[in-house]
Amino acid sequence: MKHLPIFVSIRNKPCVVIGGGLVATRKVSSLMDSGANITVISPVITNEIQKHVALGSLKYHEREFQDSDLAGAYLVFAATDNREVNRSIGELAQAQHQLVNIADDPDHCNFVLPSVLDRSPVVIAVSTGGASPVLARQLRMQLEAMIPSACGRLAGITEEYRKKVKGFFPKQTQRKQFWENALKGPVSELVYAGQETSARQYLDEMLEQGLDSSPMGEVYLVGAGPGDPDLLTFKAVRLMQQADVMVYDRLVSQPILDMANPEAERLYVGKQKDDHAVPQQDINDLLVEKAKQGKRVLRLKGGDPFIFGRGGEEIETLTEHGVPFQVVPAVTAASGCAAYAGIPLTHRDYAQSVTFATGHLKDGTINLNWEQLTQANHTLVFYMGLSGISEISKQLQKHGMSPDMPAALIEKGTTRNQRVHIATVATLPEKVIESGVSAPTLTIIGEVVKLHDTLNWYQPERHVKETDFSLHNT
Ligand code: SAH
Repeated sequence: MKHLPIFVSIRNKPCVVIGGGLVATRKVSSLMDSGANITVISPVITNEIQKHVALGSLKYHEREFQDSDLAGAYLVFAATDNREVNRSIGELAQAQHQLVNIADDPDHCNFVLPSVLDRSPVVIAVSTGGASPVLARQLRMQLEAMIPSACGRLAGITEEYRKKVKGFFPKQTQRKQFWENALKGPVSELVYAGQETSARQYLDEMLEQGLDSSPMGEVYLVGAGPGDPDLLTFKAVRLMQQADVMVYDRLVSQPILDMANPEAERLYVGKQKDDHAVPQQDINDLLVEKAKQGKRVLRLKGGDPFIFGRGGEEIETLTEHGVPFQVVPAVTAASGCAAYAGIPLTHRDYAQSVTFATGHLKDGTINLNWEQLTQANHTLVFYMGLSGISEISKQLQKHGMSPDMPAALIEKGTTRNQRVHIATVATLPEKVIESGVSAPTLTIIGEVVKLHDTLNWYQPERHVKETDFSLHNT
């Protein structure tokens, strides 16, 4: 390790920045965040530094550097556009045993500024020892995506409870176990979801119950999106990676399953080879049972959990049993497939409204308000419509839709195996047969389908292996 990473308090400490350009401005803003007492020395300065001067938040000397400027400085930043000047400032500072950073000259610095992810009081600093500031920034950005934005608030609450926890648990090992249980359980997620009062209540209950009682787990009802793993939300990925148990069904694609905690117990509740799915009530009970064992249970669903996902029924049961849960929305098949097929669901010229409907056949019919669905300037999206496609085609035409109305069947949308089949409302049934289209498939009907020809940007090279929905498709 070339440098020792430490976090130093520079609040009210004199820090000198020599230079007034963009690099100096960046250093000034880092110093500002830490409450330093800043002096800038430069004949010219950027507007941003000028603003700080006007606000009186730093001292400014409008002139060239003089040796006496370093007197008493805690940190020195040499950021002029002259390498020689910077180096001589560096030498002088080092001779006086001061900490000095020289812009773009890591070999002559005795400290470097890391790239910082600030979730105060949580601060993550990334350094490449000056080798590649761009790489450090990129790594920081990756962390940015992984660390919940409310992580600082969680640390704040932890600090608030430190004394109280000490009162309940005199031994350090007990406190450690308490915090491990607390941060592993619902407390962190409650804070991340903005429910800080509930998080405090939960901590208080845990303190009352002591260490022996097994804490209640929780259920994450998470939408996995339509297939492309890149469409997952940050929150979905985080919860997938911390779950102890994973309950999933047929619509979750394999690449997404691969991203979940490899140690999680995996329970498939979709249709089996004999075409029998686990009954919904059994799934509901399973979620309750696992959570009551203190497990973090991930209920992973294709698309969005609240759009034709029966997510509502599952959390109703959880509420009855007092199991904490949270719901993570996701890209639903309609928006995912539409985007990846270049079919905007609404459009100034063609559609001012859109309906998501189920095309699922029940006793040979589909119970929908067909009059309403056939109004002009309207886009229709049918989920689960393959088996009912003849009925959909027949009813729409019967209620006045032109047989030429454009229609698209989007098969395995957003995955590498996506196929788009264009037809009209009249020819949809024969298109289904002739194309051999298989589930999952979404049907879009409306003038907007015309735009596919020109806006079709996603043309994946098809996979040889059907790994996207390898489980069981309906
Ligand atoms: N909750 C899901 C929908 C579940 S209903 C969501 O919000 O997307 C299942 C139906 O969704 C399928 O029959 C199919 O019509 C549609 N569907 C889901 N994923 C799809 C995909 N990748 N491509 C095409 N249709 C999809």
